[in-house]
Amino acid sequence: MSMLESARAQLDSIRDRIDISDETWKILDTPKASLEVSIPVRRTNGSLDLYKGYRVHHNDSLGPAKGGIRFHPSVTIVEAQALAFLMTFKCSLLGLPYGGAKGGVQVDPKELDKHELHSLSRGYISAFYNFIGPDIDIPAPDVYTNEMVMGWMVDQYEKIARSKAPGALTGKPLSRGGSLGRDDATARGAYYIICEMVKEMGKKPPEVTIAVQGFGNAGYNIAKLLFMDGFKIVALSDSKGGTFTSSDSLIPDAIMDAKQQLGIVAEMYCEQSICDAVEENIISNEELLEMDVDILIPAAIENQINMDNVDRIKARMIVELANGPISAEAHIALSDRGVTVVPDILANAGGVVVSYFEWLQNRSSYYWSIERVHEELRERMLVAYHDLKGVQKRHDVDLRAAAYIRSTRRLAASIEAGGTKEFFERK
Ligand code: NAD
Repeated sequence: MSMLESARAQLDSIRDRIDISDETWKILDTPKASLEVSIPVRRTNGSLDLYKGYRVHHNDSLGPAKGGIRFHPSVTIVEAQALAFLMTFKCSLLGLPYGGAKGGVQVDPKELDKHELHSLSRGYISAFYNFIGPDIDIPAPDVYTNEMVMGWMVDQYEKIARSKAPGALTGKPLSRGGSLGRDDATARGAYYIICEMVKEMGKKPPEVTIAVQGFGNAGYNIAKLLFMDGFKIVALSDSKGGTFTSSDSLIPDAIMDAKQQLGIVAEMYCEQSICDAVEENIISNEELLEMDVDILIPAAIENQINMDNVDRIKARMIVELANGPISAEAHIALSDRGVTVVPDILANAGGVVVSYFEWLQNRSSYYWSIERVHEELRERMLVAYHDLKGVQKRHDVDLRAAAYIRSTRRLAASIEAGGTKEFFERK
């Protein structure tokens, strides 16, 4: 199952639980607009390469579309459609005045030097200028794009617009209209929910073991926040593999130092100025996913837990910090086994919530303190979580189904306010 098929299957699974029109289902099941472009980049060696770029608006009935830009070799229009689909439901679930969008470039950014990456980032905005904007579609960072890329992109947007428009993109550097707290917002949103759930279980952080797959923005920050609270981080990994500990906890900042020095996620030992990885503690991504832990946090890419490995997953709870890390079929198997899954459209919504705060700050030119950002993020995440638990109880479903029921209702109310078949048929 592709991620798009999985997302559609998850929506379909709640179809007989809520009363909305067939037309609304059709609208929610179909992307509003998908655009594909070729972006020329003059390489440092003099040659010209063309990169495929995509942008998808899934639905904008609740407001301008919102979603990240991903630079990755596996980006396709279908992947962008799936991620835009998730954004539509995520923004609705969190009560944001946004629709869903997503985009990306099919490129391995590690093969580009800084000048080429800069040129590609500006080229993306030139190509999609008429498709984006502060009241149309507001991009943000995603896999292998960061605040510097957002800074280049907003600068390019403003050059073409010939006016300042900081609200055209979010996730920007602070000095270019970014928000305090946007850097770790995705992880922090999930952190608030994990702390609440652990409290409800009557457990203390040092009694909870956690494995995190992916050690980028989302994965590193969640590991760091949980570690600082006393949770036991027993395994971490990135695309090249990972490390584990069978004693106390890994120290995320020390692992980040190792990643920066050695290029891999590993524990490091140093003799004078020479450092090397502790080889006995190395594990593969497959092994990490199958570890016997209280909480597994996939924070890398999609479809990591699927029908090939679901029977070997031992975690009691899975928090989907990545988008779409569990296939729809695997989700059913986990749910049947009683594994609690905190769905992506809730778990990783902290990023878009603080992007919304950034956009509000840009529009009012009034900038918030870090305390205000954290407090408002915490409140939104916990309100959404408790709301979902209410829906879950009333409908006797898992958290993912509850999330789709809640978000679909809000979207349907907006779509159907324009009139339904029954309304137009009535004399
Ligand atoms: P990132 O580029 O900062 O980090 C991605 C990490 O995943 C890197 O450590 C990379 O090595 C690792 N990775 C890539 N392929 C892997 C593989 N096959 N196995 C294991 N690790 C692998 O990206 P990010 O911003 O942290 O995004 C991670 C996930 O979180 C994505 O699914 C993204 O859509 C989702 N997400 C991010 C944000 C955000 O604000 N950054 C918001 C919502 C959702």
